[in-house]
Amino acid sequence: MDRGEILSLYKWATANCFRCAKTNTNATLLAEITPPAGDRYEVRVCERCVLELEQERRRYAERTGRKCAPGRLGRREP
Ligand SMILES: [Zn+2]
Repeated sequence: MDRGEILSLYKWATANCFRCAKTNTNATLLAEITPPAGDRYEVRVCERCVLELEQERRRYAERTGRKCAPGRLGRREP
């Protein structure tokens, strides 16, 4: 699976990247955090960070002998 295919598994919107602090970039929602007292906070990461995170996940899966499908960052495993 190439970069474009992996990126197409996510929904993109213009936002700031939580991981590398890039602003006004294409970013996808990984998590929503709602503190007990406070506003909802969206954790979004940019394309480059998604690809890096996917790569880390894949390496981890290879090391631990697990299966790993791309496109599942930020989602709960079944
Ligand atoms: Zn980033």
